[in-house]
Amino acid sequence: MSDAAGFRALPSVDRLAGAEGASALVARYGRAAVVDAARDAIDAARESLKRGQPAPDADALLNQMAVRLHAQFAPTLRPVINATGVIIHTNLGRAPLSDEAARAVSDIASQYNTLEYNLEAGARGSRLLHADVLLREITGAEAALVVNNNAAALVLLLSALAQGRGVIISRGQLVEIGGGFRVPEVMEQSGAVLIEVGATNRTRPSDFTQAISHPRPYHPPAAMLMRAHASNFKQIGFTEEVSLAEMSAIAHAHGLLCVDDLGSGALLDTAAYGLEHEPTVQESLAAGCDLVAFSADKLLGGPQAGILAGKKAIIDVLKRHPLARAVRADKLCLAGLSATLEHYRRGEAIEKIPVWRMMALSADAIRAQAASWAELLGPGASVVESESTVGGGSLPGATLPTFCLALDGPSPNTLAARLRACDTPIIARVQDDRLLLDPRTVLPGQAEALLAGLRAALSGG
Ligand SMILES: *Cc1c(COP(=O)(O)O)cnc(C)c1O
Repeated sequence: MSDAAGFRALPSVDRLAGAEGASALVARYGRAAVVDAARDAIDAARESLKRGQPAPDADALLNQMAVRLHAQFAPTLRPVINATGVIIHTNLGRAPLSDEAARAVSDIASQYNTLEYNLEAGARGSRLLHADVLLREITGAEAALVVNNNAAALVLLLSALAQGRGVIISRGQLVEIGGGFRVPEVMEQSGAVLIEVGATNRTRPSDFTQAISHPRPYHPPAAMLMRAHASNFKQIGFTEEVSLAEMSAIAHAHGLLCVDDLGSGALLDTAAYGLEHEPTVQESLAAGCDLVAFSADKLLGGPQAGILAGKKAIIDVLKRHPLARAVRADKLCLAGLSATLEHYRRGEAIEKIPVWRMMALSADAIRAQAASWAELLGPGASVVESESTVGGGSLPGATLPTFCLALDGPSPNTLAARLRACDTPIIARVQDDRLLLDPRTVLPGQAEALLAGLRAALSGG
């Protein structure tokens, strides 16, 4: 075919976008986007012809349009299969919700609701009460307040209780939590004045009492003693810490508050699952803390939120602070959080809440799962011993024994990239030049999609 004939053979934009084969694309993506895609496909075909290459036929043009539209319309926030074995994976959305919590979110999302409505009185109610009763019952706190996340909880409590005043904290706890979020910088932002005591590795009770009774002339009077839980690193060797009970006693003897930034916010004992003991909210309160701040989407296993639990008089001050409005929790968060807390109240958290179910899975059960997948996949797949981690700023360095599906493919990185390109992307782990998939973090409903993705990737994907 001559060049001129080639150009003439190309359909017009309207004809291509209106072709029978394009109707499914129009139904899915709308006419305007399909017309744009048709124009681009024809432009590209013209360029090919100019370079002396053959032009694609109509089917090939439609195919190009479909690929382009699929990529263009793919949401950036998508479900994935977490086969990394990191249970609370911050990059993958931290804690997946229980079925009940997900349903509660969806119910509230699509209907009007009692967010700020008192049904009995037929009048305005408060959004602050929704998780309040559950939190009081489960933690034993006098009162609780739910905000956007734990970072917001810290900003609120420091602004409301320590603005222009001193916050005494051990030098070993001036931590960076992740994403550049640093405890000392948050304090500065909130107008609180950091009073560091002790050394990086050792802080004693006398360091706190000294700072209180012999303040530096340039320090304002202190408002509180604060502990920031070292949730993402571990100090070993020549170390000494002051217990929360001691800190509370010192604070209260001097008319100050004792506040705990607990981070992961475990409500159950991780030691029951072969892990180290992660301090719980109940323990901090029992140690005498006036206020405990923690995340709802780490070990609690709920939606993103920050929870403040403690003395009623103090929570009331926080509720009245102007910042409380700026960091308040929304209806979807409150729905998911309440449903998650319900699992604790009913004593069914381990069975129902995914992060706890994953922690409680036995290595034997995981080995059986990995072996059944290996068998279904055939040659190239095997089972290897490995380790899962809890992640998400809790239990640093702690691991759980696991068994992974190991894939011998072209190269582990090529295989990993193919898995990420699946309809439901699969996130795996490359270790010792092999691709490993840990069944522990694969949700029960995802096994079929996982196997389909693995088969496609192994066969050249
Ligand atoms: C994770 C963490 C935070 C931040 O909590 P977000 O809910 O992510 O805002 C603050 N302090 C500690 C100790 C943490 O572990």
